[in-house]
Amino acid sequence: MGQGVTCAACGASTPLPGDLTVASFACAYCKATLQIAMYAGASAVSADALLGHIEGVMAAPPGGGEALRAAIAASPRFHQGDDGQRLMPCKGCNAETAVPLDVTVSRFACARCARVWPVAAYISDAERLALDMARQQAGNEALARLYAEGLTCHRCGGHNTLVDDGAVQHPCRYCGAALLLAEAVDASAVARRRLKHGVFAQIDQARAQQAEAERRNTRLALGVAGAVIAVLGLVFALTR
Ligand SMILES: [Zn+2]
Ligand SMILES: [Zn+2]
Ligand SMILES: [Zn+2]
Repeated sequence: MGQGVTCAACGASTPLPGDLTVASFACAYCKATLQIAMYAGASAVSADALLGHIEGVMAAPPGGGEALRAAIAASPRFHQGDDGQRLMPCKGCNAETAVPLDVTVSRFACARCARVWPVAAYISDAERLALDMARQQAGNEALARLYAEGLTCHRCGGHNTLVDDGAVQHPCRYCGAALLLAEAVDASAVARRRLKHGVFAQIDQARAQQAEAERRNTRLALGVAGAVIAVLGLVFALTR
């Protein structure tokens, strides 16, 4: 279990930055530039991008309903799709072709004849949705088990208890090696957890701001209430 964040250049175990929206980071040992998405996974990176957007909306809440809708519509998509594919014979050339299982992908091109097909002509939307729900459910359950049981260090074999805090990695408490949760469970389950933690932290912060504004009885109270609604709207939007 677990490879940790191993530098591709020098092989040392190096920590990821806390903010995953930066595109790259430097190895702590050899200073090589490493791409975040390769280590944290695209879904964790997109979770942070969405959280950054929500934070921006909270910092400057849009005035009217129209601006609010625009802010929600402009939110970056949370990518948590299935990277998997199913090999099926192309309906044009009969060669084996890879049909994407990601529910957000509606068309694909045959690698042999290049004809573009609707995915639904091969696998029904209902089946893909059911597969996706099952995948997410399994990922969430595996992550809950990981939090309950802890993670064994790949380098020293030490047993680490984990805190459910939305982090994508955990430093080994014995040897300091960086342990990636996504090495043990589905990366998108880790990203969903991270998103949930981030959104709840922002809602808590908005509530505290609103309570403070109400105490002072300022007009700010309305703006903060609008921001809370915007955040709840985004939470709803990101489950699309
Ligand atoms: Zn290095
Ligand atoms: Zn074909
Ligand atoms: Zn260790």
